[in-house]
Amino acid sequence: MLPSLFVSHGAPTLPLDACPAREFLKSLGARLPRPRAVLAVSAHWDNREPTVNRVAVNQTIHDFYGFPDELYRMAYNAPGSAGLADRTQELLSAAGFDTATDDARGLDHGAWVPLMLMYPEADIPVVQLSVQSPLGTGHHLKLGRALAPLRKEDILVLGSGGFTHNLRALDRWRLDGPEPAWSREFSDWIQAALEEGREQDLLAYRRLAPHAATAHPTEEHFLPLFVALGAGGEAPHPERLHRSSTFGSLRMDAYLFG
Ligand code: ZN
Repeated sequence: MLPSLFVSHGAPTLPLDACPAREFLKSLGARLPRPRAVLAVSAHWDNREPTVNRVAVNQTIHDFYGFPDELYRMAYNAPGSAGLADRTQELLSAAGFDTATDDARGLDHGAWVPLMLMYPEADIPVVQLSVQSPLGTGHHLKLGRALAPLRKEDILVLGSGGFTHNLRALDRWRLDGPEPAWSREFSDWIQAALEEGREQDLLAYRRLAPHAATAHPTEEHFLPLFVALGAGGEAPHPERLHRSSTFGSLRMDAYLFG
């Protein structure tokens, strides 16, 4: 059975930035059993209700501005999967969610940047599922729980966001700038809560975790962690696969649940 995963996708320039997080993601695909398809849950598709894309081939969305030309030439045209789109909607409907379909949308950079590093051949079908950031942690944990059966069907549930994500606090010109205390303290708290299985504390992290509002001024980049945690099942065994920061405070941690 495949684990579920949470990865931090960092800055859009990650494919160009020589850093430990990039090397980690490059090594990650080969460390896992090869999935039949990937269900990618990215922070960058945030809408009213859980929506899957149903396309033959995923277009590459360059949803960022003012970055090097080379990034805009990158393409990751993995096939889609109508079968996985349908199965995802079936599982979510059975769990009481209203869902929607998008017949045109491709992959945003939260999905294609890590996937390009993990599976550079772009030969594994990918379906993307949206987040609903106003609905918070409980909604996303429940969403993930509903998707847990996919792991037995050789589907990789991949949450992609940021372990911390405060763009105003970045040390923008220093890829390996020193990490501030607030980002370390927040990350240590989350790490301990995950390892100790303190689900209620995690659900209330905005109230309980130190510096939560600084680490995540808005929640959309943290919520894919809850989807991955939920997809890990009733008593997920978390394993931290990677820990680093880029541009000072942008934590790039990755977790496996299973
Ligand atoms: Zn992002």
